Amino acid sequence: MDVRVSGVRKEFDRFPALHDVSLDINSGELIALLGPSGSGKTTLLRLIAGLETPTDGKVFFGDEDASLKSVQERNVGFVFQHYALFRHMTVIDNVGFGLKVRPSNTRPSTDEIRRRSSELLDFVQLSGLEKRYPAQLSGGQRQRVALARAMAIEPRILLLDEPFGALDAKVRKELRRWLREIHDKTKHTTVFVTHDQDEALELADRVVVMSQGRIEQIGTPDEVYDKPNSPFVYSFIGESSTLGVRVENGELWLADRPIGLKSELPNGDASLYFRPHDVEIVDGSQACIAGTVVASRRVGATRRVELDLRGSADRVEIGITADHPATEMSGIAFRPKHWRVFPKN
Ligand code: ADP
Ligand code: MG
Repeated sequence: MDVRVSGVRKEFDRFPALHDVSLDINSGELIALLGPSGSGKTTLLRLIAGLETPTDGKVFFGDEDASLKSVQERNVGFVFQHYALFRHMTVIDNVGFGLKVRPSNTRPSTDEIRRRSSELLDFVQLSGLEKRYPAQLSGGQRQRVALARAMAIEPRILLLDEPFGALDAKVRKELRRWLREIHDKTKHTTVFVTHDQDEALELADRVVVMSQGRIEQIGTPDEVYDKPNSPFVYSFIGESSTLGVRVENGELWLADRPIGLKSELPNGDASLYFRPHDVEIVDGSQACIAGTVVASRRVGATRRVELDLRGSADRVEIGITADHPATEMSGIAFRPKHWRVFPKN
């Protein structure tokens, strides 16, 4: 294991930005920290970098307590959302900066710095732009320079804080693929912050889903998508539907009848979560969820269907895959193939 965050809490003037966060980052892994704005992603990244100190808990680099290491000794490469290139330096000087400011006993020669910098520029596909200044580059090019600069110091870990967040959607998608390719070649241990689920799911080996200063779930993209372990993850990643249900002696009830799903939760109100592609349309005579279709509209690959529930005055909305011809439906009976139920909080 390369970097370990262990039981970290961080308060800013008594405001808890992170509560008891633990995370093991394996060598060569690309990890995405995914969560809405304010969930603590940047704070966690800055704690790993040493730009913040934990209120409680520890960060380890290998077996070493990182609190004993300065920011420089941690040897991390950082890329921020807003280009932090030096405006008055050429592209190649920007890339070599981290090497140039090293103490003289570890600083490579000027020729060596130049050689390494131009190699890296070649690697990020910017050869020929060595003499330009940041103002003469596009946003995407600037972020590639920033990445080359972060990699130039041969960092122990690369920390990228929404590096493509300020770019338009098309460039962002290109850079996302490109970053994955770069990572597959270099195998730098990397932590990548994003609030964009597509970016996280496409890029990362593992996704760390954060909400309100806590880690909600850690898993591969498939795991967090297919097996969300909390209502937050269900709603934050991908499309999902929620229905208010009751647990009665191991059976789930919706309105006045059981719906053929079992649960080990204690009796009481609960919430049923499922994804559109897990909705299986069934014969209405079976125990299932059924209702009259009041309205339906297509949203991308999903059809949102508004239902008057059988046996209840309540109206609910569920998502099904858009290939169901719901426009012609007057009623619908279904059961989710995969689902989770959580106690009502
Ligand atoms: P994210 O990067 O997920 O948007 P941050 O880590 O930036 O979230 O912030 C988490 C919470 O901590 C937010 O509520 C933010 O306002 C607060 N916070 C972050 N940095 C500071 C700071 N230096 N002083 C006070 N509050 C902060
Ligand atoms: Mg942030």
